[in-house]
Amino acid sequence: MRQRAEFDGTPAAPGHAAGPLHPIQDHVAARAPADDPACERRELNDAIEAAIGSIRSAASDLSSADAEILDFQIAMLEDEALAAPAMTRIAAGDDAATAWSHAIDVLVEDYQQADDPYFQARVSDLRDLHDRVHHHLSGTAPPPLPAAAVLAGEDLTPSRFLSVDWSQGGGIALFGGSASSHVAMLARARAVPMVVGLGAIDLAGHRNAIIDGTSGRLVLSPSEEDRAVFETAKRTEADDNQHRRMAATRPAVTKDGIAVSVMTNLVDPQELDDLDPAICDGVGLVRTEFLFYGPRGLPDEETQFQAYKRIAEWAAPKPVVLRTLDAGGDKPITGVTVAGEANPFLGLRGIRLSLARPEIFRVQLRAMARASACGNVRIMLPMVTVPEEIDSAAAHLNSVVAELERDGVAHARPPLGIMVEVPAVAIVPELYDKAAFFSIGSNDLTQYTTAAARDHPDVAALCSAAHPAVASLIGHVVAEGNRLGRDVSLCGDMGGDLTHLPSLLASGLRSISVAPTQVGRVKDAIAGIAVTSS
Ligand code: PEP
Ligand code: MG
Repeated sequence: MRQRAEFDGTPAAPGHAAGPLHPIQDHVAARAPADDPACERRELNDAIEAAIGSIRSAASDLSSADAEILDFQIAMLEDEALAAPAMTRIAAGDDAATAWSHAIDVLVEDYQQADDPYFQARVSDLRDLHDRVHHHLSGTAPPPLPAAAVLAGEDLTPSRFLSVDWSQGGGIALFGGSASSHVAMLARARAVPMVVGLGAIDLAGHRNAIIDGTSGRLVLSPSEEDRAVFETAKRTEADDNQHRRMAATRPAVTKDGIAVSVMTNLVDPQELDDLDPAICDGVGLVRTEFLFYGPRGLPDEETQFQAYKRIAEWAAPKPVVLRTLDAGGDKPITGVTVAGEANPFLGLRGIRLSLARPEIFRVQLRAMARASACGNVRIMLPMVTVPEEIDSAAAHLNSVVAELERDGVAHARPPLGIMVEVPAVAIVPELYDKAAFFSIGSNDLTQYTTAAARDHPDVAALCSAAHPAVASLIGHVVAEGNRLGRDVSLCGDMGGDLTHLPSLLASGLRSISVAPTQVGRVKDAIAGIAVTSS
């Protein structure tokens, strides 16, 4: 048995787990190749078909969110371009297994070197596809991964993640990996503690491990003291979760009796799977970009309608604010945003891009107007800079509503509001009185006010919502919004930062929207604030 060793990585899913250490090993079974390229090609095609079939049957047992991840893999396997290099190598004399490994290895390398974190995060999907096809080629399955263990290794594929019974506990420690990978999303959704980016670790001789997914730490061969710290952390975590769950379902009221509306932000409808609508006063921001990130290109009207309808029905009769596509800036979307802009944050993003691409915008507006018949939907425009953008968007909305009316499709015309995240709007909000409501986007408002990019580590200290100029703009928007009779909310990250809550409430703000996991904490904090004396 080896001595205690401790490693720091990147947190990918919060929480603590302890258990036997289990190395995640690649599993590629031996196979006797046929000596005939035509036969090898056929066997590879059959193995790909069989892999698609087995993914489909696995997906049918899963929740829709988990199944979507497998859909991504099916789409990749169905794309003939994936296997084409392998077929070429078979023609040149390779056997099917070697050719397939080589084709996927080349792609993995490309994805790992891509600047776009989206591609880096898809590496584990590629490895998964590699293994699945190999298993069908060789007719063997990988050994099962144990429950209640700390699984450690270079990477973990989504299908191997889904094969584990996580209800018994356990955690994941990856030498590589990415916090935005599908496995990390699954881990967060299932509350499985996970750390990534630990660097290569020699696991030999270690039998047990503790992982802290909140701070990003792995301890191998933990000491008695580590175990005591772990037990305390687990108890605190359980108490906190229990407390926050209870706090989350109570209305938010300040110490001096002022009611505050606390809504939730959604980046992905899969967050609704385990969420009780009673915890919030509605959905203050749906970042609809999730629909556009998939491998299948632009989502059609029906796909969008189903997603929006699900959220609207979940929240009804409470309001749901669907934000139109906010692509561009830190959210590039292949085939939609402009590649190579010198300064994407100041370029064609948000409503600017939607108005430049009406064929995309109108499909989204149609889907939103249809979902409006299923709940209390509001539409919100991101990155509005001049009032004319509201006029143009309203004209498109009115026109798609007229189309739906003419075609006899169930719909309603939702109110049209705006994000206040560009200083030009925050300085003179009264010029934007055509908006039905205002929602302050503190993330962008802060970066544009401080001229410091929100995604640039070297200027992170400058891009601070604590700058008095940001508070001054927010106070002004709240006051003008109240004077104009418009609802004013705040849906940027500032709302979930407890240090800002007293000043936000003191500015007159009575509505915020935060991530689902922050609702309990925020309501708790609000209960401790006295607005009249702060
Ligand atoms: C914001 O800018 O504060 C906001 C909520 O929008 P996003 O973070 O999606 O740009
Ligand atoms: Mg924004």
